Amino acid sequence: MDESVAVKERPFSGFNTSDDRTGVNSLRDALVQAGLLIPTGVQGLFGRDERFERVVEAIDSLVTRLGADQNAEVLRFPPAMSRIEFERSEYLKGFPQLAGTVHSFCGGEHEQQRVLQCLDRGDDWTEYQKPTYVVMTPAACYPVYPVIAQRGSLPEQGNTVDVFSYCFRHEPSLDPTRMQLFRMREYVRFGTPAQIMAFRSEWIERGTRLAKLLELPNSIDLANDPFFGRGGKIAAHSQREQSLKFELLIPIESADKLTACLSFNYHVDHFGLLWGIKTHDLGVAHTGCVGFGLERLTLALFKHHGFDIARWPQTVRDVLWKRP
Ligand code: AMP
Ligand code: ZN
Repeated sequence: MDESVAVKERPFSGFNTSDDRTGVNSLRDALVQAGLLIPTGVQGLFGRDERFERVVEAIDSLVTRLGADQNAEVLRFPPAMSRIEFERSEYLKGFPQLAGTVHSFCGGEHEQQRVLQCLDRGDDWTEYQKPTYVVMTPAACYPVYPVIAQRGSLPEQGNTVDVFSYCFRHEPSLDPTRMQLFRMREYVRFGTPAQIMAFRSEWIERGTRLAKLLELPNSIDLANDPFFGRGGKIAAHSQREQSLKFELLIPIESADKLTACLSFNYHVDHFGLLWGIKTHDLGVAHTGCVGFGLERLTLALFKHHGFDIARWPQTVRDVLWKRP
């Protein structure tokens, strides 16, 4: 049977297990059965097949075309960043539950023997794993702030940077749209409050145009980040009250559950203060970013147009693969 039909006939019916080995999420199962996502035995950690990657790459270049007039400087970083800069970002204040740190074996031969013995016995072997100065990148824009800060004050028109990174968030889930390692493409804007606000409205409009071009049902809504703990509730409330975050939502996993596929963020002077980023007249720079979740957009396309790319609406295929 054609997979697109199979998906339509088996609407998502809810999770009833937290065991990845017996996961029953029908969208996830259908994606895995079709070979688009390759399970690894760890929730939210997937391989992708050639068809999936073709779509990710096409969305990525569509974002490049949408932002062609931004004069953005392209910067690329590995999916990990400096622990020192990560500490400075205050990520651990807001989202300690999502952070991923890289640890390495730092013992000698004696300790290695102990590790091997633990492995033999099935005991915990991680005692000799020590933190390194490398931390997984939580959002594509994080490595950029120290780089821009080091250059001195911004030009009068501010600065726009184009970044792309695999990002890590420790949020294991059976929901295929909630991965632990996923790709984020961003435009990051540095400048005055007026420059950031203009950038953000422009990208809310462009993001909506992108979803329309891809023939995906969508809506824009006010949002907040998943701040940790009791203090986090206040932070989330304040973020909403100041309208700092908007998201473009698409139903993916089920018709009544909307998934954030793009986010439009105004950080006010948070990063400007932390890294001492200055405007041309030596005020504290404000920053903002638009983030595109490449896996989520890809999953939205497979969900709404079926698993067989050849049978997607010609108009959508033209947007993705026919160059102007
Ligand atoms: P955020 O920084 O949380 O606003 O994330 C930016 C974008 O990354 C979101 O709009 C999503 O499209 C995507 N994203 C965030 N978390 C995940 C995840 N766990 N799995 C896949 N994509 C994600
Ligand atoms: Zn960002």
